Amino acid sequence: MKLKKSLDEFMFKILRKFAKVKEKTLHAEALVRDDMWKKLQNLLGKGYIWFVVTPANYEYCKSYFNIKQDKAQFTHILAKRIEILKKYNEEIQLHIHLCNVPAFFDNKLQDEKFEESMKFLNSLGINPTKCAPGWRQYNDYTIELAKKYGIKWIYDYTKNPRKKPVIKDGLIINYYWKFWHDYELI
Ligand SMILES: [Zn+2]
Repeated sequence: MKLKKSLDEFMFKILRKFAKVKEKTLHAEALVRDDMWKKLQNLLGKGYIWFVVTPANYEYCKSYFNIKQDKAQFTHILAKRIEILKKYNEEIQLHIHLCNVPAFFDNKLQDEKFEESMKFLNSLGINPTKCAPGWRQYNDYTIELAKKYGIKWIYDYTKNPRKKPVIKDGLIINYYWKFWHDYELI
């Protein structure tokens, strides 16, 4: 089993060398930082799908990216920057960090995070149809919630560039093998 796994990993590595990136998937999560935002201007008009964080992930962003603003300021700046993305006709979708440990998933917290995220994006006139869960972690309840909020695609990372999308409970799980974190571009 272990041997098969390492063989697969080796094969995927080779395949990735020659595979084309079908969609440029960007996880935009440090964009409230001014230094980050300045860099991100270079990506405007380049065909990225901007999976943006929302205030539902304020605590995550604060601890991961040394954000100094309080939540109200964070929300205000984030909204302003997303408005600019809109002006440039960028595709804006949902990035949401739910929980990094599958055993700790919690339906009530998922409810709250989804509700807060969608309210925020909807208030900016954005109705996301694609969702990229942070840390690649989501469960069956995430799919149920995503559907409730009009999401049609879950974007999930895979090492295998040939992995085809699958339909799960009426939602499409779309696999990407290459993606960008905004904070890796700084
Ligand atoms: Zn993320």
